[in-house]
Amino acid sequence: MGAVINDSDFVSEEITKALIEAAHDHIDPLAIQAPIVSSYNERIRPLLDCVDRLRNLKVMQEGIQLPTIVVVGDQSSGKSSVLESLAGISLPRGQGICTRVPLIMRLQSHPSPVPELSLEFNGTIVPTDEVHIAEAIRVATDEIAGKSKGISNVPLTLTVKKNGVPDLTMVDLPGITRVPVHGQPEDIYEQISAIIMEYIKPEESIILNVLSATVDFSTCESIRMSQKVDKTGERTLAVVTKADKSPEGLLEKVTADDVNIGLGYVCVRNRIGDESYEEARAVEAMLFETHPLLSKIHKSIVGIPVLAQKLVQIQATIISKCLPDIVRKINDKLTASVAELNKLPLQLKSVPEAVTAFMRIISSAKESLRKIFIRGEFDEYPDEKEMHCTARLAEMLSAYSENLQSISIQSEQKQTFLVEEISILEEAKGINLPNFLPRSVFLISLQKKVRAVSATPDEFVNKFWEYLQGVLVPVLMTHSENYPQLQPSIRRAAQSLVSKKREQSVDWVLQIIEMEKLTDYTCNPEYAATWHDLMKSQDMFMIIMNDRKKSTTLEIDGIGVVEVGHLRNHLVVAQQAFDLKMRMTAYWKIVLRRLVDSMALHLLFSSQNLVNKDLETEMVNELMGPHGGGLERMLEESPSVADKRDRLNGSIRLLRESKETVAEIMDNIAAYGD
Ligand code: GDP
Ligand code: MG
Repeated sequence: MGAVINDSDFVSEEITKALIEAAHDHIDPLAIQAPIVSSYNERIRPLLDCVDRLRNLKVMQEGIQLPTIVVVGDQSSGKSSVLESLAGISLPRGQGICTRVPLIMRLQSHPSPVPELSLEFNGTIVPTDEVHIAEAIRVATDEIAGKSKGISNVPLTLTVKKNGVPDLTMVDLPGITRVPVHGQPEDIYEQISAIIMEYIKPEESIILNVLSATVDFSTCESIRMSQKVDKTGERTLAVVTKADKSPEGLLEKVTADDVNIGLGYVCVRNRIGDESYEEARAVEAMLFETHPLLSKIHKSIVGIPVLAQKLVQIQATIISKCLPDIVRKINDKLTASVAELNKLPLQLKSVPEAVTAFMRIISSAKESLRKIFIRGEFDEYPDEKEMHCTARLAEMLSAYSENLQSISIQSEQKQTFLVEEISILEEAKGINLPNFLPRSVFLISLQKKVRAVSATPDEFVNKFWEYLQGVLVPVLMTHSENYPQLQPSIRRAAQSLVSKKREQSVDWVLQIIEMEKLTDYTCNPEYAATWHDLMKSQDMFMIIMNDRKKSTTLEIDGIGVVEVGHLRNHLVVAQQAFDLKMRMTAYWKIVLRRLVDSMALHLLFSSQNLVNKDLETEMVNELMGPHGGGLERMLEESPSVADKRDRLNGSIRLLRESKETVAEIMDNIAAYGD
């Protein structure tokens, strides 16, 4: 058992087989007086029982629709009378609004001549009998929908076990009224429409549209509604009541089919007044046999027995069509609910459990962070570009480097060639040899250049830590999503940690800048090589300086074409200034590169420390601190999680039961086959 229902094809095949066998001995629609029972009923009964049990289990709450025959009609069109005729019992009938709640009517044929009736609502079953049924329904309705004329969508289930009734389950709905009667809520039409729509909308529903022969069908509200959900009418069957009252033109009305009824019409005459069920059937048979107009209507579309037989067939078809799908949906929903439940955190019952869970949050978050910050693995966030940290950081660094370069180039372009160097040299002159470049001159020039770019590293670290916070917080939130009560603390911890780190970086930047101002040093041989290359232009420069006839532009490899004419007035220092400029140019390349390289190393080191060491400390401190609320916080399950857990447990229980129900029935069908 159980394994069977996982195979929808098998289910479908078995049902079809059972139905075909049963169809061989279905009832003769013309045997009007014959009891409406056959072995067809017995074959379909288990399937119908299964659907009814699923309905009883409220599997529909899980969004699984069941094949249902839904009775709709305008008020006083004769819905309750039709159900009465099918069931052979008396229901509340008559003027005003009688049916105020959905009435699920389960008809079951049973061998004993004594009928058994019971009413079930809100989980209680009340046994009753034919004499008291109408009253029992009235009492139950009052209990569900109140004593006034209000309505409700909480259903009432009436089970009728009676010899000769067809095995059918139908839902009777409140009739549609446009105008509220005294004591009814103003929006009664909207309320009733909503209930009707809820029942007739699913593709699995068969709409039994009850129309009174006395009215023009196209004016019926119930036709308008069923056409909204079933345009072609393929799942709509019409019952025309009160054939006795309005026989004129009835044949024409049902043949013309102005209102698109796909499953056809059945004309009936219900029980009137105090007639017994048997009397009513006899009168109906007589009416369609002998009435000059009604007798012209084909026998295959008149009378309650024909209606019963049609409904039984339609019901069998729709059940066999829907059941495999239902089985599949139950399995799918069950799997999904179980998976969702498993994802919920274990409910924490003690501090040690809370500690374990907390440690798990930290270690799983750390692992994710290591992946995205350090190892450049972004499998957890394939589509979120922001989370691909190594790539983003590389981009940020190259933008930083470009930014530094362009600032330097810009400030260079503002100055006339060597004017700055000359002015520094002039101010530094002393009582010493003229062709000797003092170190202080170089340092002063260097400091000026460093100052010009000093804001950039500072801006960059701020930008970096802002980006990092934007990654860190969501990662921590994801890993702590099951403990919403912890999330504010965790978020605070992350933010304060990042701001500490940011301050550290800002301090570090200050130091780096100061260091660069203080010393001119590099062991990089590129410095000497570049200087050497640049100095190759010095001879040409000096020639231009000394020969006023020469053109005043000079092309220097690595700098470009410069105007040098103005320097002829400073012949004494020009050569030194040229040397100073070339040394600085060579050295500045090294400085800029050092700024970028050390920034990269610093930030990686700093963010690694954040992940590997500081994060944990910060989170523990925050949680245990004055605003954290301690680990005890974790023991309080958040109401949303608790609700979700309850709901899922409820669903799972229901779906398991449903699955068993279906499995049982499938086993029985399989047994028939043997
Ligand atoms: P509902 O509001 O749609 O449930 O309609 P009811 O079943 O309560 O019927 C409304 C009225 O029409 C009642 O007085 C019934 O006796 C009457 N009625 C229903 N069907 C027939 C019928 O076939 N012939 C006649 N003459 N009256 C009927
Ligand atoms: Mg009614």
